[in-house]
Amino acid sequence: MERTLSIIKPDGVAKNVIGEVIRRFETSGIKIAAMKMIQLTKPQAQGFYAVHKQRPFFDSLTDFMTSGPIVVMILEGEDVIAQNRKLMGATNFKDAEEGTIRKDYATDIEKNVVHGSDAPETAAFEIGYFFNDLEIQQR
Ligand code: ATP
Ligand code: MG
Repeated sequence: MERTLSIIKPDGVAKNVIGEVIRRFETSGIKIAAMKMIQLTKPQAQGFYAVHKQRPFFDSLTDFMTSGPIVVMILEGEDVIAQNRKLMGATNFKDAEEGTIRKDYATDIEKNVVHGSDAPETAAFEIGYFFNDLEIQQR
């Protein structure tokens, strides 16, 4: 059993697709082990995306991620890191496969509706960034 961090970004919340995104996870057999809605401060967004600090889009990305509420979730399942990335689609929605979340709902390369951890190490860091042990359901 594997865990990953999923975020419905401010554009996804604004577009009223929280339920649609969660429906896709549940329909795929993915379990939600934790969930909350929060609004990040700029330093919190910068800390989360620290690996992208040197990228040209870092400032814009962290502004966007603080622009409204987000939904953060821990997803649980077999091979869930890869399974979630497949459901999300490519970073740039123009390259995303038909039927993926980003293909269906993204606005541009930055406002791409969802985040998903890309490896076990990043999943562990990202889960710990948002959730403590008491907030994670064991089932
Ligand atoms: P995420 O980490 O959000 O799951 P990802 O792993 O597909 O997405 P990354 O390369 O890690 O993509 O980039 C992180 C986020 O930064 C992207 O999801 C997107 O919101 C934004 N981003 C990536 N590339 C660009 C770009 N060229 N211009 C603007 N924003 C970008
Ligand atoms: Mg990434």
